[in-house]
Amino acid sequence: MQTIELKAPLDGVILPLEQVPDPVFAQKMVGDGVSIDPLSQVLVAPCAGVVTNLHRAGHAVTLTTPSGIELMMHIGLDTVNLKGEGFTPKVVTGQTVAAGDALIAFDADFLATHAKSLLTQIVVTNGERVAAYHPASGLVRAGIDTVLSLDLAEGGAAEAQTSGKRVISEAVLIPNPTGLHARPAAVLANLAKRFQSRVLIQRGDDQANAKSLVSIMGLAIEQGDKVVLIAEGPDAEEVIARLVPELASGLGDEGSTPAPAPATTEISADSAPAPRPRSDDPNLLLGVAASPGLAVGKVWRLRREEIAVQEVGEAPNQERRRLEDALDLARNQLEALQAELRGQADPAKAAIFAAHQELLGDPGLLDIAESAIAKGKSAAFAWRAAFTTHAEGLARLRNELLAGRANDLRDVGRRVLAIITGTPLEEPQAPPDTILIAEDLTPSDTARLDRGRVLGFATVGGGSTSHVAIIARSLDIPAVAGIEPRAMDLPDGTPVILDGSKGSLRLNPDPLEIARIKTLKERQATRRANDLATALDPAVTSDGHRIEVVANIGGLEDAARSVTLGGEGVGLLRSEFLYMDRTSAPTEEDQFAIYSAIAKALDGRPLIIRTLDVGGDKPLAYLPMPREENPMLGIRGVRIGLDRPEILRTQVRAILRAGQGNRLRMMFPMIATLDEIRSVKGLVEEERARLGVADVVELGIMVEVPAAAVLARQFAREVDFFSIGTNDLTQYTLAMDRGHPKLAAKADAMNPAILQLIAQTVEGAAAEGKWVGVCGGLASDPQAVPILVGLGVAELSVSVPSIPAVKAQVRARSLPQCQDLAEQALAQDSAAAVRALVPLDY
Ligand code: PEP
Ligand code: MG
Repeated sequence: MQTIELKAPLDGVILPLEQVPDPVFAQKMVGDGVSIDPLSQVLVAPCAGVVTNLHRAGHAVTLTTPSGIELMMHIGLDTVNLKGEGFTPKVVTGQTVAAGDALIAFDADFLATHAKSLLTQIVVTNGERVAAYHPASGLVRAGIDTVLSLDLAEGGAAEAQTSGKRVISEAVLIPNPTGLHARPAAVLANLAKRFQSRVLIQRGDDQANAKSLVSIMGLAIEQGDKVVLIAEGPDAEEVIARLVPELASGLGDEGSTPAPAPATTEISADSAPAPRPRSDDPNLLLGVAASPGLAVGKVWRLRREEIAVQEVGEAPNQERRRLEDALDLARNQLEALQAELRGQADPAKAAIFAAHQELLGDPGLLDIAESAIAKGKSAAFAWRAAFTTHAEGLARLRNELLAGRANDLRDVGRRVLAIITGTPLEEPQAPPDTILIAEDLTPSDTARLDRGRVLGFATVGGGSTSHVAIIARSLDIPAVAGIEPRAMDLPDGTPVILDGSKGSLRLNPDPLEIARIKTLKERQATRRANDLATALDPAVTSDGHRIEVVANIGGLEDAARSVTLGGEGVGLLRSEFLYMDRTSAPTEEDQFAIYSAIAKALDGRPLIIRTLDVGGDKPLAYLPMPREENPMLGIRGVRIGLDRPEILRTQVRAILRAGQGNRLRMMFPMIATLDEIRSVKGLVEEERARLGVADVVELGIMVEVPAAAVLARQFAREVDFFSIGTNDLTQYTLAMDRGHPKLAAKADAMNPAILQLIAQTVEGAAAEGKWVGVCGGLASDPQAVPILVGLGVAELSVSVPSIPAVKAQVRARSLPQCQDLAEQALAQDSAAAVRALVPLDY
């Protein structure tokens, strides 16, 4: 039996592969071998061989030995994300090397701060040729000590079975942010190896053996590339059926994990009755309050009917012509629309249609359509397959911007489909006085609402803390989420009253009621005018107790607007908005510039910057996150900062620098244990010392995990202030997903259990002389304001439009009245009972 001795490619300490904190290596999906914790910075060849693959990111190299063993060396973990930074390859693909020759030099300091780990793996990727592995242990010296010896298998691997059927898959768009690098390629190769058939992966004219990690990596397949799988053999059909969905969903690669299907997909008009509020009154539909205010108008349903298409086409030439004609017509329609919108001085909407026009020429789309037509499909069928495949691929990317493009693609795809099939398709335009009813709206739909016509909306899906609701509040448009599904059956034109504060939709109100609402609306308008007139005055209770009313913002524009509405600073800058809509993380300089600009817009008022709060419901495309069973309970909020300290450190430095000469505070999201806050404080102090800046930025935590409220006194010794995030505190206290449509009505932060936790937080903070704010949605709820004041909250951080009203609510009572209300609220047994203590005065 032949044995190969592999010398250590680095100085370092050997670690069993099972201990590598990455399941792809630990579970030997790439192959068996060893890991080294490196003490040197040049990776050298462990034996003689030919460089058969050098990854374009420079972090991984494969040697093929004369006996045919493929040996992959992978420097660090998740280092593919560094896109070559920190690595200097010393060889090129195809080069023959001797044992000890330099392969890749790397900057260990850079990797230590920018990668998840420096652990370097040496694995055999064609393990079928190895009978036994004998790893060494302990400290090894590069080129001198043996790191692994291999007993080779007799006779080599069995060749793949090639007789049988040949099956070619539909095209698949690669969703993986960093393409098919080692991890997903290994998963694919392992899956393919389970089958007897020969399996090839093809991109354009290039093909590779899908059972070979090295061959797959050799194609350097990138995100967005279109590939097909070809299987040939007795189980070819099974191969395609099993592998295509895996490939399309990212092969378990972090960052390309398809976002969990929104809970709303479970909802349909004929789904089982949901345990949500239902009214017995046929003229009253219940949902949850998503954005306050009343609107009187007529139902208009945003409902997109499926366009029926025939699968089988006529002669391919005829179908091709049909598609080309439809594309031309769609281009003309879009051109006309843009001209019209520009004429109406609406360049933003015109730009959306310009982007649609661009999508029509996308070669990827046309290729898929063309190949389906060539297989005898109709133009309509082929086009629908093309745009839905692409849209699904985009929607799967955990990037809001690209996922948003998926909607655009569906819009424009439908336009062309309607033309081919002769289906009349008007761009849905709401009539005047519309109360829009939809299964669900995307945030961009909401942002695009024609405010001149749409007076309010109700969606069957969504909850009061969904991002759609947050946008609705910032647009100041009344909205109800989680409305009873029968809303979708209401005929267009049904007169209704939408109550965004109570979360209800009243049908066919009698004219007297409409008149009453109109009077109320007038009263509200007067009150709003009064609130606005006094917006710049401080919020002081009738007996002189001052409450700071500050704003929740997402960026500079909100900051400037908050000041004009009487905002006394910013209690929550959701800094993740700076990280969204981009393909790479903002740099320290980017962040320094924006934080300084916001501080300047606030002109001396305080600014609380919450560090990056992503994960769970807020994924980022360029920040690969592990696939998790329970993302809301996983690596979310500050846990990401601790897991990937380089991201947090960059942000902390930007905040510390911007904090010199400005009133900046730094706040950490989702703190659950004292260890977490102590680690974060240590990290902040290290960065501060490194920058050599003054210790002037106060530190606080979000209290949004019940544990933080319960241990408030202990936490208060560690920080300068607390800000209660009632959105998450409610979700975690009641164990109710904040976006779940069936639970939305019950997940009310006025539940006395949440109020008890707020009271406990204030008490713990006060005992240590610290102050407490509330920045969750409860602070903007007019019914909650006096209760929060009575509970001893010092600062209310609210949505920008509600600043004047919240200030007016504070002024409406004395502190003892608020305290009395708070005491009664704590003794109630339900959120409804608490709300009954503070009736809305309309
Ligand atoms: C909260 O949880 O209440 C909060 C303010 O944070 P976010 O809504 O951004 O999670
Ligand atoms: Mg939160």
